[in-house]
Amino acid sequence: MSAPRVLVHVCCAPCAIVPVRALMAEGFAVTALFYNPNIHPVAEYARRRDAMAAYAKTLGLPLIVKDKGYDPAAWFRRVSFREDNRCFHCLHMRLEETSFIARAGGFSHFTSTLLYSRRQKHETIAAIGRDLGGEEMKSRFLYRDFRAGWAEGIEESKRLKMYRQDYCGCLFSDLERRKELLQG
Ligand code: SF4
Repeated sequence: MSAPRVLVHVCCAPCAIVPVRALMAEGFAVTALFYNPNIHPVAEYARRRDAMAAYAKTLGLPLIVKDKGYDPAAWFRRVSFREDNRCFHCLHMRLEETSFIARAGGFSHFTSTLLYSRRQKHETIAAIGRDLGGEEMKSRFLYRDFRAGWAEGIEESKRLKMYRQDYCGCLFSDLERRKELLQG
């Protein structure tokens, strides 16, 4: 019997380490998907994408890169006037696209490395995933709590000298991180 196929949305290389390892160890045939129109600016997007591509190459991991889906205008439209709840809409946008590609590609399951991060809204991600990939769907959402591997992933990403960003991704998170630059 062939291994079940899972499409894993990857937000960045450091967050991919533990989930990809764990899913491979479970016996899944893993394909990664880099779809992150939230990342601002484009140079940062390219840096995270290239770090993920380099890591995938070392593993022989199939990686789908959705550069055509890098549409900041669409992302800003999605979160506009909902800035206080922007993470929900940002997470939904990325998981929704993942579920579409999983269905079109005949994957039995989809999931996301966002479930690894201790900084993300874990329960929200799980709820969105279940909503998009319920039991009746052809591609089902695969819930895993990868957060137990948080320290292991950080250590390994440093050992591999991976690029490690210091903000979540969007312009708003960059602003929150660098408030001190605005003085007036
Ligand atoms: S902080 Fe992160 S999850 Fe929230 S909107 Fe920005 S990029 Fe998306």
